[in-house]
Amino acid sequence: MFEAPVQKLIDELARLPGVGQKSAQRLAFHLLHVEETDARRLAEAIIEMRSTVRLCSRCFNITDQEECSICRDLRRDTTELCVVERAQDIVVVERTQEFIGRYHVLGGAISPIEGIGPDQLRMRELVARVDGEGIKEVIAATNPTVEGDTTAMYLARILKPLGVKVTRLASGLPVGGDLDYADEITLGRALAGRQEI
Ligand SMILES: [Zn+2]
Repeated sequence: MFEAPVQKLIDELARLPGVGQKSAQRLAFHLLHVEETDARRLAEAIIEMRSTVRLCSRCFNITDQEECSICRDLRRDTTELCVVERAQDIVVVERTQEFIGRYHVLGGAISPIEGIGPDQLRMRELVARVDGEGIKEVIAATNPTVEGDTTAMYLARILKPLGVKVTRLASGLPVGGDLDYADEITLGRALAGRQEI
């Protein structure tokens, strides 16, 4: 429909989450008309992010070093572990300023429909950490969805025999959505009112 180089960019943009064909076209034509240095800066930011960012060797948060800034922070309470589905959920919990422990990123939630079982998530790494890091409480901060609840129950089942307390965020979060649908006050309350499962 468009000249090949333009169509190629539209196709790539349209593959991004939340970007449909129409938005992709609008973005592509916007980039066609901005200063070349601006377009180049965007392209370089993508390349730089991909080449420097990696996963924290301890918690699988995003970092540009061996361990992320939270794991390296000596003021953090190492006896509390907040388990989240995705690295971006850490930012959401951090914004509440209610949690001073460390994190563990599972990489998703258990979903039989999508064929995601515990083996596809970073459960083994989690068990090793709970075993070896002197953790006393694990907070299941998975999304308030069926998958998130299933994952929280699974966490309780495998971690409680290790002698740790497993808690779940209190209700009051918008059901069915991602953690980041909640504002920080609601999430902060859910965190403060967490209950043992
Ligand atoms: Zn980390």
